[in-house]
Amino acid sequence: MGKNRDMSEVVLRAEHLTKRYPIKKGLFGKAANYVHALEDVSFELHRGETFAIVGESGCGKSTTGKCVLRLTEPTEGKVLLGEEDFTSLSGEALTKARQKMKLIFQDPYSSLNPRMTVADIIAEPIDIAGTYKTRAERDARVEEVMEAVGLDLAFKYRYPHEFSGGQRQRIGIARAIVLEPEIVVCDEPVSALDVSVQAKVINLLEQLQDRLGLSYIFISHDLSVVKHISDTVMVMYLGHEMELADKEALFAKPLHPYTQALLDVIPRIRHERIQDKRILEGDVPSPTNPPSGCVFHTRCPKCMKVCSERAPELREVEPGHLCACHLFDDALSEAERQLVGVSVAAK
Ligand code: SF4
Repeated sequence: MGKNRDMSEVVLRAEHLTKRYPIKKGLFGKAANYVHALEDVSFELHRGETFAIVGESGCGKSTTGKCVLRLTEPTEGKVLLGEEDFTSLSGEALTKARQKMKLIFQDPYSSLNPRMTVADIIAEPIDIAGTYKTRAERDARVEEVMEAVGLDLAFKYRYPHEFSGGQRQRIGIARAIVLEPEIVVCDEPVSALDVSVQAKVINLLEQLQDRLGLSYIFISHDLSVVKHISDTVMVMYLGHEMELADKEALFAKPLHPYTQALLDVIPRIRHERIQDKRILEGDVPSPTNPPSGCVFHTRCPKCMKVCSERAPELREVEPGHLCACHLFDDALSEAERQLVGVSVAAK
């Protein structure tokens, strides 16, 4: 994966993205509280790279994707596309910039209009953009993209319900790439598919990346898929960035207690720790009332006295390996380091 990766060229930069949804009292009332969906998330996406965002349900990974695409407006922070501030664009400039970024949905069926033929579904983005002047050019582009994603041209005038889940996802991918975007946000693109079909769709995404030089933001809860496809991984918990590293470093030597627990429940990935695996106990706390200090402290086996008092900074623990955990804060006092509780059971 990532054969065309150019780590020197940043195609997208997310800076301090924060999203808080107000919870209002009454129809016109003031915000009584907020859902803290995303808090101060920053990362870079390089040309040809697959940047994976992982975490449990509700960790903020899909909200990150939506903020990046401006399907929801971030409360704070910005997204730069190259040097351009995407978050400040409007009108025609926004429409143009949006063509550089496309989304592949989790559920291909619900994202495809059941009343449109495959050809029209795939062509819709170029029809809206007015990319081609003649019908023949437009149809030729549709056929080119159908071939690229492995769809038989005989299916051109069929409807979504006539296809399997894997084929529907190919239609979704064709629609996403028809305008030749630079960046594709893949939001759980294979989690609704059978395992046997997942590998084929992942292989297709890899082939298209190599051929078209695409950069992917790959959102997934499935670490075995992420291990296969990603170059870089960001682990999120309760809207916060917990760890960010090159895939090899993250899977070989996870630093954050949350990442360690996530990897421990996948024996295929961490054979060596199967005798000593740690299972995350308890539910993810409510994002309307997140824990004080480190948001993971209510479930962390290494929770220290300082952890509920102060949020840890995201610091570079090893070159290119960032982690938000007080365990790597050399300035802590003995009292602050005192172990206070174990919420994760050893099994
Ligand atoms: Fe655990 Fe404390 Fe590190 Fe948070 S800061 S992950 S509670 S040790």
